[in-house]
Amino acid sequence: AREAYVAARPKSAEIHTQAREVMPGGNTRTVLFYTPFPTAMQRGEGCTLWDADGREYLDLCGEYTAGLFGHSEQRIIAAVAAAMAKGLNLAAVGENEGKLAALICGRFPSVDQVRFTNSGTEANIMALAGARGFTGRTEILAFRGGYHGGVFTFPFGAPISPVNLPIPMRFADYNDPAGAAAAIREAGDALAAVIVEPMQGSGGCIPATREFLQALRDATTETGALLIFDEVMTSRHSYGGMQKRLGIMPDMTTFGKYMAGGMSFGAFGGRAEVMAVFDGHKPGAMPHAGTFNNNVLSMAAGNVALGEIFGEAEAEALFQRGETLREACNAIAQKHGLAMHFTGLGSMLNPHFRAGPITAPYKATVEEEQMRELFFFDMLAAGIYLARRGMVALSLPVGDAECDRFLAAVEEFCAARKPVLA
Ligand code: PMP
Repeated sequence: AREAYVAARPKSAEIHTQAREVMPGGNTRTVLFYTPFPTAMQRGEGCTLWDADGREYLDLCGEYTAGLFGHSEQRIIAAVAAAMAKGLNLAAVGENEGKLAALICGRFPSVDQVRFTNSGTEANIMALAGARGFTGRTEILAFRGGYHGGVFTFPFGAPISPVNLPIPMRFADYNDPAGAAAAIREAGDALAAVIVEPMQGSGGCIPATREFLQALRDATTETGALLIFDEVMTSRHSYGGMQKRLGIMPDMTTFGKYMAGGMSFGAFGGRAEVMAVFDGHKPGAMPHAGTFNNNVLSMAAGNVALGEIFGEAEAEALFQRGETLREACNAIAQKHGLAMHFTGLGSMLNPHFRAGPITAPYKATVEEEQMRELFFFDMLAAGIYLARRGMVALSLPVGDAECDRFLAAVEEFCAARKPVLA
């Protein structure tokens, strides 16, 4: 399989060889790295991708959820083109940012005010800074298996290196309500904030239980720490994100990914009282700078993406399509009697090579890692492009025919790999 992969991709190999000279690993984005070399993409249209060697793929990676609108949504392209025609870097506020902020505040019930960044990572950095400024406390609690950006990567089952952390943090186990509540109470009035993904995305598409999030809400209310929902990925799960779906309100929320129609984006928001720490009208306001925070392309595209395309009905339809797809995947694995299970919620799903249910992150065994690798490369060979860890993030152009094509490939994988998986 490895030989076939290499033989089919001479151009990708060449691109990698050149890049390796000048970039460590030949790469500038950890998630896109794999051996022997990653497939280089050249072009996309709708939910189709073409690689550097001209091979065609069904794109189910969906740019790790940022590609919600596909590669050729004409309304977004028109908005970006119109913005570009009026000048790229105006070094001033413009009307699109206030309008986009209003759209976000209108959708997410706990968000009274919001500010923009260039990425989800930055949104989390600023939310944590804001929480520390607001509370006058320093400590942060996060969860093992969580991911909040390049500097906030918390693998499960591995020591979390302080070298990787921009600020000191404490950790608790995901989906363990009693353990988390105890950790919050123990930290007491030293704890500024708890940051949590309502579904761990990078950790393997593992949804939080309502009980767990409610325990975080109750314990933080008790101690005065702020509860931050990282909805960078999960905001797509309803018109108002997971907070609306579950009816649990955080103090702050962070956003990213698809919200600027595919342009670079991040945002953090929350209760007006908390966000007021950044209010320049007030003496001693906290700084929140960033050359590209209100870049004209993201602001213009975001208004069209949220204001005109991804409404309530679209969000619900996408969610249901994903639910149906995940159930069908699991039915196939079950039919073959395999130790294989897809977790997730709505339009995001992730295969695991062990029996379900899977309710918490875990450290994969060597065998499980091998199966994951096999799945990824088998899907590539079948012309289906996924995240390396197997995650599927549906985009709006993905329809019934595309889902059926994926299911057929999963079926084929199960049949072919049955001897190793059973
Ligand atoms: N939080 C979560 C939950 C994410 O999934 C990601 C990105 N995968 C981030 C934060 C970081 O966003 P970005 O890559 O835009 O910095």
